[in-house]
Amino acid sequence: MPTETQRQPTIVATLPKAELHLHLDGSIRPDTAVQLAARHGTKLTREEVLARYNYSNFAGFIETFKWITSFLRTPDDYALITRSLAEELLLQNVVYAEITLSVGVMLRRMQNVEANFEAIRDTANSVPFRNLRTAYIFDSARQFGADSAMEVARWAAKLQSKGVIAFGIGGDELAHPAVSFRAAFDYARQDGLRIVCHAGEVGGADSVRDAIEVLGAERVGHGIAVMHDPGLIESLITRRVVIENCITSNLCTGALAKQLGRSNVSAKDHPLPKFLGKELLVTLSTDDPALFHTDLLNEYLLAEELGLSRKKILDLAEGSISAAFLPANDKRQLLENFRGAAKAAGLV
Ligand SMILES: [Zn+2]
Repeated sequence: MPTETQRQPTIVATLPKAELHLHLDGSIRPDTAVQLAARHGTKLTREEVLARYNYSNFAGFIETFKWITSFLRTPDDYALITRSLAEELLLQNVVYAEITLSVGVMLRRMQNVEANFEAIRDTANSVPFRNLRTAYIFDSARQFGADSAMEVARWAAKLQSKGVIAFGIGGDELAHPAVSFRAAFDYARQDGLRIVCHAGEVGGADSVRDAIEVLGAERVGHGIAVMHDPGLIESLITRRVVIENCITSNLCTGALAKQLGRSNVSAKDHPLPKFLGKELLVTLSTDDPALFHTDLLNEYLLAEELGLSRKKILDLAEGSISAAFLPANDKRQLLENFRGAAKAAGLV
């Protein structure tokens, strides 16, 4: 990621934005990682962390994810990383974030989900971050199987009144078929939670179809595999299912290379412009900003470099607000604020 001084400002830099696909434990910057490891008696340098944050395929990424999350042991560790993330979001004028929490990982490590969640939520709600609104998505990893997913869904339902809005699964997309998670998704939906699902990242278009038809996903994480299936794109448009785009993530994990069947891919190969051209509902996000050396401003800059017009970039930022799991009035207010700021900045 370019430093602040090197970086060109994106046209949406000063506008009040939303970010909807963002993993808390993927946001641990190297300096915070050093601090976190030191709390648990492990001496690390920034360079050592950076060396770990470097991989060329999805398996390597999952290994790094396991390693960094092994230092998340107490509610106070979660508070520390939430503070860093909230500061970073406000610096980018992100006013609303739906933050994904790896509750499946917490359960596997026998942690107190409620205590961790309260530490995260109370930190994000504290005075320094009053200009940032947050909501939470509880996530289970596919490779942990159906029972773990059900346990995560139960926790999401239990803590819904405290700010959990959605349930989803991520992790290794090829580990188990969608159908094995149907009961967990049904449980979450019947309890009033919204539904997200990572699919079509390293899996094919069928994986996206299953996420929608079998699990009831309202938003699909990544979903780049649909670029090969015009019929499925039409179906997504009709059903108003949202595709959450994370450009840098798809390059770093090798997901885009896998979908295109070649190794030399760049941001210019990302299907985002094609999706926007088809009126598909899309958002732009970072996924795991620290692990992929990016942030939301950098993702918008990449989108601009793909040749998208100013109007399309503004549409993308508006789409990233419209797809939020917020009450209609709250969304309308965020959109009005965004349009007002765009007008004041002379962009419309
Ligand atoms: Zn993700």
